Amino acid sequence: MFLDLESYSGYQTYLLEQPARLVVDLYGVKGDPPPMLEVDSPVLSSIRASRFDDQTLRVVCDLKAPTGYQVLPAPGGGIAIDFNYQLYSLALEDQDGSLLLSIEMSAAPEVQATYLESPLRLVLDFQDTTLLTRSFDTPVNLGPIVRWRVGQHSPAVTRVVLELAEPLASLPVEERAAGSFVLPFFPGTAAEAAAYLRAQQHAQEEPEELGAELLPTGEGVLSGLVIAVDPGHGGSDPGTIGYQGTFEKDVNLAISLYLGELLSEAGAKVIYTRDTDVYVSIFQRPEIAMEAGADLFVSVHANSHIERGRARGTETLYRAGDPASELFARIVQEELVKAITLIDRRIWGREDLAVFNGSNIPAVLVEVGFLDHPDEEVLLRASGFQKVAAQGIFNGIVRFCLENKR
Ligand SMILES: [Zn+2]
Repeated sequence: MFLDLESYSGYQTYLLEQPARLVVDLYGVKGDPPPMLEVDSPVLSSIRASRFDDQTLRVVCDLKAPTGYQVLPAPGGGIAIDFNYQLYSLALEDQDGSLLLSIEMSAAPEVQATYLESPLRLVLDFQDTTLLTRSFDTPVNLGPIVRWRVGQHSPAVTRVVLELAEPLASLPVEERAAGSFVLPFFPGTAAEAAAYLRAQQHAQEEPEELGAELLPTGEGVLSGLVIAVDPGHGGSDPGTIGYQGTFEKDVNLAISLYLGELLSEAGAKVIYTRDTDVYVSIFQRPEIAMEAGADLFVSVHANSHIERGRARGTETLYRAGDPASELFARIVQEELVKAITLIDRRIWGREDLAVFNGSNIPAVLVEVGFLDHPDEEVLLRASGFQKVAAQGIFNGIVRFCLENKR
């Protein structure tokens, strides 16, 4: 709020309750008081001015609730009064295993988070905010949070301190309803939370925006070819299980079905080793391909690392000692990485995989990403990402076929 005054010799402010209002007495001001103002603000309801005596103008700011304020004399005359937002309540909640801070406040909070070590704690500073509840300091037992403190740290800052047993980071505040907000927490460090947000954004983007360009396939660029698509695992064998509980078998099947659609559209005959959630042994898989007279074999998987969560990126395995499979792997890897932009790990010749050893056609096994890495799990779960991955593998298959005149 700004009071435009030609000149004044001094001022005094009083914050009063019942009803909440700020009284500003301005000394050395003559003339008629300005008319009353109705104000549409989260903090103020109206501003009234009256003459207190012949030297003093009294301005009363009617507040929706008592709140902190700062008076700032303006250099060119007049004074500015900044009111804080009002923080009505805070609560820690566990919603289906996700921790969050629910916030009742007069406007969307601006929160500055600081992560401190020894002891491990997360400090949340609510800017330009007055706490309307009592301060408290109390033990809790909610995930990694062992204690929390809430108080008015300075006239303009309400501070929340969470003492932690394990790292915890804050995510951006979301509005749930008018005056009701949530601040979700991420189980990890601030850097991990930032990576998670980036990965989520990436997963929400449309496939087109991710740069998986369609090769000039034309109609029937793959016609006459039989291609075996092998979604890894299935049924009683879930494969790797992600941090959020994602089953590898489901990711593999989703990507494989998208891939199969693209291959069919390009004129290929597609043979799935499974197209539902059933168990098929690793020995049956190449048999199914050979019985159907397949020309190519593509197995789709998601990876895991012996040190869970340590590795990231894409790799393509192939039948060791088979130049056609190696070339096929190189091209598929290149196109897939170009499409999904994960780390280009390697192509890897393997002598020990039953899915390769049961046939002699060019055969690859694509490990699209690491399901045991939380960021890559977010991607692998997302249908937008699954489609881009399928497009990348498809581009590789088409390029291999075109370049080798199959
Ligand atoms: Zn697998």
